[in-house]
Amino acid sequence: MFLGAPGSGKGTQASVISQRLGIAHIATGDLFRDAVSKGDELGREAKTYMDKGLLVPDEITIRMLLERIAAADCREGYILDGFPRTLEQARTLERALAEKGEVVDRVLYFKVSTEELVRRLSGRLICRNCQTPYHPITSPPKVAGRCDQCGGELYQRSDDSPETARKRLEVYFAETAALIDYYKEAGKLVEINGEKGIEEVGQEVLDAFTNG
Ligand code: AMP
Repeated sequence: MFLGAPGSGKGTQASVISQRLGIAHIATGDLFRDAVSKGDELGREAKTYMDKGLLVPDEITIRMLLERIAAADCREGYILDGFPRTLEQARTLERALAEKGEVVDRVLYFKVSTEELVRRLSGRLICRNCQTPYHPITSPPKVAGRCDQCGGELYQRSDDSPETARKRLEVYFAETAALIDYYKEAGKLVEINGEKGIEEVGQEVLDAFTNG
């Protein structure tokens, strides 16, 4: 499980490590964005919350996540990115896993200062095709406006506007940060210094997967 604030780099690292180790990468934010672009009922409902920087209600989010992790590509394990975000989500996930005799192995917490989060979120660009994030200063693409990985078009997420990004950080501190202590007490938390460059953080992440 990858835990951290919006802009902490957990999505970037989850994409890299999932490709490297061949494990499914499940990002609830990406699942919601897919639903929004399809314009189905889930997407229409989720959009009203996402546009305001608020969390989608637990009931909807949990149902979507449990369906996703029942898929065949999750049988050998998976990386959760952006889920859980509330204690209710964490507890429900644990109960659902326990029914299958499974547990959360490890929780990687990406620690980044608030100033750095604000800096990263304002100006962030995302690939429309593979969701890889870029930043004009900290991680610019080789060709302006194009993804290094797949050549896809880069765009700014509407919820990365300064006002909504601020709201998302507020929501993170009010609702999600409590999960750090929750998993620390469970003895599952591994702290990752998310302030460093992408490569260095990537090495720490890989160590967390391979040690123990
Ligand atoms: P993200 O891409 O992880 O920043 O998620 C984008 C948006 O999707 C969030 O601001 C929420 O509105 C929604 N979302 C993603 N994951 C969750 C979750 N676990 N619980 C509730 N809402 C979520």
